[in-house]
This record gives sequence, C-alpha cells and structure tokens, in this order.
Amino acid sequence: MLDVHASREGGTASSGSAAEPWTLDDAKKIYNLPFNDLLFRAQSVHRAHFDPNAVQMSRLLSIKTGGCAEDCGYCSQSAHYPTGLKASKLMEVERVIAEARKAREGGATRYCMGAAWRSPKERDMETIVAMVEGVKALGMETCMTLGMLNPAQSARLADAGLDYYNHNIDTSERFYGEVITTRTFADRLETLANVREAGIKVCAGGILGMRETVDDRISMLVTLANLPTAPESVPINMLIPIPGSKLADAPPVDPIDFVRTIALARILMPQSHVRLSAGRTGMSDEIQALCFFAGANSIFVGETLLTADNPGEDHDTALFRRLGLKPMELQPEPAE
Ligand code: SF4
Repeated sequence: MLDVHASREGGTASSGSAAEPWTLDDAKKIYNLPFNDLLFRAQSVHRAHFDPNAVQMSRLLSIKTGGCAEDCGYCSQSAHYPTGLKASKLMEVERVIAEARKAREGGATRYCMGAAWRSPKERDMETIVAMVEGVKALGMETCMTLGMLNPAQSARLADAGLDYYNHNIDTSERFYGEVITTRTFADRLETLANVREAGIKVCAGGILGMRETVDDRISMLVTLANLPTAPESVPINMLIPIPGSKLADAPPVDPIDFVRTIALARILMPQSHVRLSAGRTGMSDEIQALCFFAGANSIFVGETLLTADNPGEDHDTALFRRLGLKPMELQPEPAE
C-alpha cells in the first residue's frame, strides 16, 4: 500500500505542520487510492487520535444576518446578490446567551456565533465581547465568525475568553478569485495568522461544489495542513446552491468525492476535528455514515445553520442511534 508521509500521521494538530510540508502530489496520491484503501487508512489515523464513535456537537447562531458587503458567490447573505434574505441588526447579548443556554441543554458543547460582516466595527466590539463572556460563563466553548480581524481585535477577543475563531479559506488559492472578488486568499491567511498569534484556536475549512476541480479541493486541504499550526477544527461544507447567488446553478458534488475529501482531511490533519458542516440535508444517511468512517467527527446540530437548513435533532439522534455514535464530551483544558 502507498506510504506517503505515513510517519506524519503520528503528528498532532499543534505539531502536525512542524514536519515536512505536505506536497500537492503526495496528497493527490492519497486522495486517489482505491476507495477501500483510502477509507481504511483514514479510519486507522482516526482511531490513533480519537474515540472513533464520538462526535463533537456544535450549535451555530446567526447574531447578525444579511446585508454583507462581501461578494462570496455561495452566500445568501451577500448584498451583491438578489437572494431575498432580509438583513437584521446585531442581536442583543441577553438573547444570544438565552439561545446558548438552550443549546447546552440540547447537548451542544460549543456555541458558534456568526455575523455577516466584512470585519467587525469598533462600535460592535463591546457587544461581541459581552457575548463571548456570557456564553463562556455557561461552561461552553465559544466560537465566532465575524469576517476579517486585525491583531488588536484578535487580542481583545482572546482576552474575553474566545476559544475558536472560524474563518474559512473556502477553496484553493488558484480558484479563490472565481468565487470572491472583494477580498483575497492572502487576506484570509492574514486573519488566520492574527487569530493564531492572539492564542485563539483556529476553525478553518472550505466548501465543495462551487465548480472547483478535485485538485482545488486537495490544494485547499494541503494549504490548511501546511499552516504553521494546523486548524483545530476543519469544517467541510457541501454547497447548498442559493437561488439568486452567483453559484445558484453549480452542479452537485459526487458524494464519493465528498467522502474522499473528508478522508484526505483526516489523514493530512490527524488531530483536527473534521466537521461535516453545511449541506448535510443533501446527503443520505449512508453518505454521512461513510463520512464518519472516513474520519469526520464533528457536526452542527439544530434545524438551521446561519440561514441554511440542517437536519433536525430528531433525525441526528436517530442516525447516531443507528450508527452507535455518541456525543463527544467537552475535553478539559490541558494544564499550563
Ligand atoms: S460568506 Fe460571510 S463574508 Fe461572505 S457574503 Fe456571506 S456573510 Fe459575507
């Protein structure tokens, strides 16, 4: 069996990028293994680092919806496209905390808060900080996605106790300009560096189904795996085509290619949580089961993801029961 970088599989999310960087060729060889060999290898890596039957559950809330200045071709919230979404103002802190409490009661251990911004304005930072502090006080992990952050904003959120910052690189550097023109791939990497420098854990992944090639998907994962420190969370989304958006007519992804991408993410980033994110409503239970076998170990729970549909909790509970999966417990913070 092909042995590309087998020794790296003992690496960690925090040390995984310290070894020789992955090359695109190596990653392609792994991706193109016979399906059974690829899944066996991904499952072996997964078992070496995680309980194979535990899945981390996050809940996502849109704290400020729509009217975004960016032109992301996949997004219902961009003001550049007639998607019919009504814009709303930044939510009140008390409401966010009340929603987080409900999510905790439903079993979520991480609460993710997303705002449709290019970057947060200074006048909003106080409210954002209060949200982080309030959700943290419930004993949940906190995650935010607010667009680009500068070093000072990153430091402020770190001081408030923010655990994770989500900022997806979306696709490959080559294809990025086909999807978004209002910012660059380099802008994305700069925010990821600012967040990491501030000591916040990184959640960064991308989207499949935007008319990118398979090589673009592989290249995206290689970029993530070769960051100075690999992201602790890697969300992999399946595009939900939004009527009115630039990608409204994008053709669907081959589900087997989707599973291969999950397996490659698991192998390249052995200690990261690989999350099945948007698009689960378009996947059969069987494809989701294959994704879990390939190393996905995180999902979003709840009926909606920002503005998109998500399988309801009843469906997920039934699927977990059929597959013998269990929610992952919150990991205690390692001692300093
Ligand atoms: S993905 Fe984020 S940044 Fe892009 S348009 Fe949507 S809300 Fe704005």
